[in-house]
Amino acid sequence: MPDSQPQPPDGATADPTALVLRGARLADGRTVDVRLRGPRIEAVSTAGALPPAPGTARVDLGGYLLLPAPAEPHAHGDTALTADPATEGPVPYTPEDVRRRATEAALLQLGHGATALRAHVRIGDAQGLGRLTGILQARRSLHGLAELTAVAVPRLLTGVAGADGLAMLRDAVKMGAAVVGGCPDLDPDPTGYAEAVLEVAAEHGCPVDLHTEAADPARLARLAALAGGVPAGVALGPCAGLGELPPEVAARAADQLAAGGVTVVCLPQGGCGGVAGSASSRPDGGRRVAPVRLLRAAGVRVAAGGGALRDVANPVGRGDPLEAAYLLASQGGVRAAAAYGAVSGAARAVMGLPEVRVEAGFPAELLAVRGERIEGALSLAYSRIVIHRGRVVARTSAVREYCDSAVAALPELPRQGRSNAGP
Ligand SMILES: [Zn+2]
Repeated sequence: MPDSQPQPPDGATADPTALVLRGARLADGRTVDVRLRGPRIEAVSTAGALPPAPGTARVDLGGYLLLPAPAEPHAHGDTALTADPATEGPVPYTPEDVRRRATEAALLQLGHGATALRAHVRIGDAQGLGRLTGILQARRSLHGLAELTAVAVPRLLTGVAGADGLAMLRDAVKMGAAVVGGCPDLDPDPTGYAEAVLEVAAEHGCPVDLHTEAADPARLARLAALAGGVPAGVALGPCAGLGELPPEVAARAADQLAAGGVTVVCLPQGGCGGVAGSASSRPDGGRRVAPVRLLRAAGVRVAAGGGALRDVANPVGRGDPLEAAYLLASQGGVRAAAAYGAVSGAARAVMGLPEVRVEAGFPAELLAVRGERIEGALSLAYSRIVIHRGRVVARTSAVREYCDSAVAALPELPRQGRSNAGP
């Protein structure tokens, strides 16, 4: 990536931890220079007003909108990229296979802008803790590029088989799974399952992140009531079934989720393999998504994730947070700024990460997107520069060139040779 870390002028001594972003547009319309030092934003000031810092690397962000970076609150790194033709036949789930796919998937998502990712990973079954081993290896591979955390997802936690599942869940947390997850709807005793998850989470002080379609109001009410007792927080997703309930029933469920302090992580781009049979599609084959407006109106914090990334649950999944935000804005009735908040601020909050604002003192987790306003950025978000811990870690540059007759029709169009004017 030779262009993304400009070198200081000859003879100058660079502070390798400093980086100046010049001429960036902010969401409030200001054009600013931003100085990063190490993992933090050190200063933000009117463009051209920062004192010169000889030798400091600079990135020109003229024409770019600078935003807090997105985060991915619902990835499936162990199954990602298994729908590709190269992996037809039985999918290998050795730790090395999982590590390679999860790393590649995380880098794709990092290129989209997600500098932190939470990956659900199945434990038990034939692989025991092998998939988690692969995810934790991917976490180490990605150090300095993106923060990957693992959610352990056990199969059964009640009855005779549940004893093994519970022991494995405890082992998973000791190994490094930072979040306790699971699918209560798949256990013969969903409430018993949820209670077991919460017990393990309480033992280790972990947050909880459960899969549910939320189509059973009574079960959801019990989950919401249990959630109130978890200090590290409870997330539920994708909750698509909530949208199929009668409006008054869904509204009551939303009130209960709000009272329990539950965050709903919706998946606007489609479902994931985490919920049996995946009920994220309707009998007519259509896709459904949690009723985001209704949830927000009830005071529920709603984050949006990518879900499946090219696995059997969504062979064309992109894992692009800006696409998730675009879908919330274009189909979910959510304003563009709030839609972006669902994939950035709310996503970071549910992941237990500190808030990011483009202000001095905040983490230097940033995404620059070509455009002037958030609406335009969600509409045509091709060119992106991703910053993690104060360092440019990915750059996507799109160049669109029109033929001469198109340029004659509208002279402002980018023509060949004016490559900086791309989307
Ligand atoms: Zn899932």
